Amino acid sequence: MPGYFIACSRNQRKTCEQCRSRPGVKLCDYPVTRNGKPGTCDRSLCARCAVPIAREVDYCRVHSDMAKMLAAEAASEPNSSE
Ligand SMILES: [Zn+2]
Ligand SMILES: [Zn+2]
Repeated sequence: MPGYFIACSRNQRKTCEQCRSRPGVKLCDYPVTRNGKPGTCDRSLCARCAVPIAREVDYCRVHSDMAKMLAAEAASEPNSSE
């Protein structure tokens, strides 16, 4: 009997970092700078905690709130390019 199994160490099942109860199936795509290099937040999120921003782009709640705030600020900016 071949005792083979699929070792997917690269695809480790993470727990959602927001609710810490459901499996993380998405990663936050919010752009951040890490050690001077551009990257993404990469917080693992379950399907319910991930906030869809665009196709294939999801943010964690903190970053979706931040993005909304920045967008609202930009929109209320009187000198914004129109
Ligand atoms: Zn969650
Ligand atoms: Zn995030």
